[in-house]
Amino acid sequence: MSLAEEMHRAGRAAAGTVDPHGAPGTFASTDPASGAVVGVFPVHDADTVRATVARARIAAEHWRALGPDGRRRRLAAWRGYLARRVHELAELVHRESGKPHADAVLEICLAVDSVAWAGRHARRVLGPRRVRPGLLSVNHAASVEYQPLGVVGVIGPWNYPVFTPMGSIAYALAAGNAVVFKPSEHTPAVGTWLATAWRAAVPDCADAFLVVTGSGGTGAALCRAPVDKLAFTGSAATGRAVMAACAETLTPVLMECGGKDAMIVDHDADVAAAADAAVWGAMSNAGQTCIGIERVYATAAVYDRFVAEVTARAARLRPGSDDEAAYGPMTTAGQADVVRRHLADAVSSGGRAVTGGGVDGGPDHGRYVRPTVLLDVPDDSAAVTEETFGPTLTVTRVRDAEEALARANATAYGLAGAVFSGSRRRGVDLARRMRSGMTSVNAVLAFAAVPALPFGGVGESGFGRVHGEDGLREFARAKAVTRRRFTLPVELMSFGRPAGAADALARVVGLVHGRHR
Ligand code: NDP
Repeated sequence: MSLAEEMHRAGRAAAGTVDPHGAPGTFASTDPASGAVVGVFPVHDADTVRATVARARIAAEHWRALGPDGRRRRLAAWRGYLARRVHELAELVHRESGKPHADAVLEICLAVDSVAWAGRHARRVLGPRRVRPGLLSVNHAASVEYQPLGVVGVIGPWNYPVFTPMGSIAYALAAGNAVVFKPSEHTPAVGTWLATAWRAAVPDCADAFLVVTGSGGTGAALCRAPVDKLAFTGSAATGRAVMAACAETLTPVLMECGGKDAMIVDHDADVAAAADAAVWGAMSNAGQTCIGIERVYATAAVYDRFVAEVTARAARLRPGSDDEAAYGPMTTAGQADVVRRHLADAVSSGGRAVTGGGVDGGPDHGRYVRPTVLLDVPDDSAAVTEETFGPTLTVTRVRDAEEALARANATAYGLAGAVFSGSRRRGVDLARRMRSGMTSVNAVLAFAAVPALPFGGVGESGFGRVHGEDGLREFARAKAVTRRRFTLPVELMSFGRPAGAADALARVVGLVHGRHR
């Protein structure tokens, strides 16, 4: 029996029902393409969440005591387990989120790479490191190390149900914490599969990674459990509720929220490459990508060619649930409604759809959004100001790259973005000045595939970082240690210091620092 089948049975057993609507205390996740039930899962209440965190806390002691090498070996066993079952997990991701199997494979492979990086680099990044003691403490040895927090709560979204939460889960585990994960109510089967895989691959520390299922209430209970840090990925609106709940216990938070990412196409850019990247960035995964491209600012010199290239490419895409489809249905009915609203607002406020522009109804519950390129959309339209999270793209003509940058930055969000430029220097300069946490030059989303790079946003896109060295430190607390190596003739921090010590110190500081103007 495959892990998915086992997990599916376990979910149903826990629910004690095969009722597609779920018995009291349970809920069902469904395939967005067909409406078929994927699994039935328990709604974990506050008591169960607290008990789960308490179990994780006991495991956290053992997990911490294993040290970085012991944890690296176990994380390697987990990643090996995942890597050997990529297609099995991808099939579950496909069924529960609706994305094409091939895209699910890509997502899982990126996640496995993250687990590998986190496990391999935790000792170097977090281990004890000597620092210079400085002028006033010259007789002390000084070091800093990054210690585990304890139990980290992770709340994840449904759009990348493996890759996105793994940015927190893998790095928190590698940093020596236990993790309790609350997947989205739309993708509980995937979350449960990951935890079942952990138990199988790391049986001697199985409780270091546990999953609780349910809806927003279960997430809110996790915030109050209490945990030692809460890593949240989702919308800014829910992020605010999570922060408010965590404020009650002064629990620190990491916020990975939404975006309204822009692409700048400069006058000397490779227009075909930019168009190809824009269509992938905007429409893969049905546009349900936090770092997806939603707005393009193309300079007047390339605008017409860019629009023609983008429109031709987008028009060739076909949404569906078969293996040949470019992307799947919207994962949730609510998300399809958001896209409908944005399309209607764009068109009613003067914009025009040169391709697409609708949500197909029928037996698929109206979840398939046609690939849509929108022109002449006013800056105050919802399609420009709010996160659409659908396979749509606004393209706006601008005078030059400076105007493009100013308009790209004129948003409350600041997650990521892209710049296409024929000049390496200019491309990187624009990327640096884009107000976002990540920007790729002459590509889209490239930074997400580099596990050594930090991932996170500014403004409404949140704060804190997953991935890379910053991502490891996000789940640890800095601990400073000093050790007195020898006694100085004059001890400054003692009531026994001589009367002239302060004057002598002021003279030394004057000599060393006073010459700087
Ligand atoms: P939501 O904000 O709706 O939900 C995110 C998670 O929070 C879900 O697990 C949800 O549970 C849970 N939740 C809901 N209410 C509460 C609450 N009161 N307390 C605690 N937890 C709660 O986001 P989506 O799932 O719709 O995800 C899409 C959003 O995520 C987009 O804005 C997208 O841009 C963003 N995102 C950001 C990423 C990043 O790295 N910056 C990456 C991926 C997505 P439930 O689903 O059960 O309601």
